[in-house]
Amino acid sequence: MKAHPLFQNRRVAIVTKHQKERAISPVFIENLGCIMTVVDEIDTDIFGTFNGKIDRVKNPMDTLKDKCIAGLDWLDGELGVASEGSFGPHPFIPFITANEEWMIFMDRKNGIEIMERSISTKTNFHQQEIGHLGELFSFAKRIGFPEHGIILKDTAEKAKHYFDKMHTYEALIEGFYRLKRVSSSIIAETDMRACYNPTRMAHIQELSQQLTNSILAECPQCQFPGFKVQHVISGLPCSFCETPTRKALKHIKECKKCGYMHTLTYPNGHRKADPGNCDRCNP
Ligand SMILES: [Zn+2]
Ligand SMILES: [Zn+2]
Repeated sequence: MKAHPLFQNRRVAIVTKHQKERAISPVFIENLGCIMTVVDEIDTDIFGTFNGKIDRVKNPMDTLKDKCIAGLDWLDGELGVASEGSFGPHPFIPFITANEEWMIFMDRKNGIEIMERSISTKTNFHQQEIGHLGELFSFAKRIGFPEHGIILKDTAEKAKHYFDKMHTYEALIEGFYRLKRVSSSIIAETDMRACYNPTRMAHIQELSQQLTNSILAECPQCQFPGFKVQHVISGLPCSFCETPTRKALKHIKECKKCGYMHTLTYPNGHRKADPGNCDRCNP
């Protein structure tokens, strides 16, 4: 176990109702030597849910901050960690489904706030209209039921009838027939709450590692934690026509305390971009 002088033996609140501590705690204990406490008293659903029962009003970064602060206020704590995810088309490759996760670490005593984001195409996020049991079974197999959960609901935009506590095939079949009695059409979707979705839980664990790496990265001038890339400057020239592309030309790290900056040109090790990424060669 490593220990960080700023965080060792200090209590860090994990604000979650969906057992995310299973993914987050081991990584934080291992990398920072802190003590983890779960705060599950906050109704995190009020900040918006994945299943559309409650719409999200703010962007994921602000939502996440609100959630973390609510947990810290409840505990009267200084250190907190919270995460937030969304699912849908990949932001850069629209035909692929992706899971975007955000995670924040806050230290209110030292004014530290570090946020990380990760996009993974390893997700079983899926939704399908179900006409008969055979379709439900193939859906269940496809998304990895019963290790991964399923939600059944009617097709109304704001579903009135909703089943999400089915952890066996017997319960799933029962849910299907109960819903069939009140709704002519049924939608099945993957339960994306972390505790019912091991694929997502693994992604949250990876993001915890990424976040602790950022926490451990210190400013070379003042040793403040979180010295990470804050700005990406695009414009890596095309290898064929020299036109600036959207690929990264520079990464700029910036210390949030003393303002020290470090610029890295050609951050990905290439001096030219593939013409496939060029709007002129490949419009
Ligand atoms: Zn600094
Ligand atoms: Zn070009």
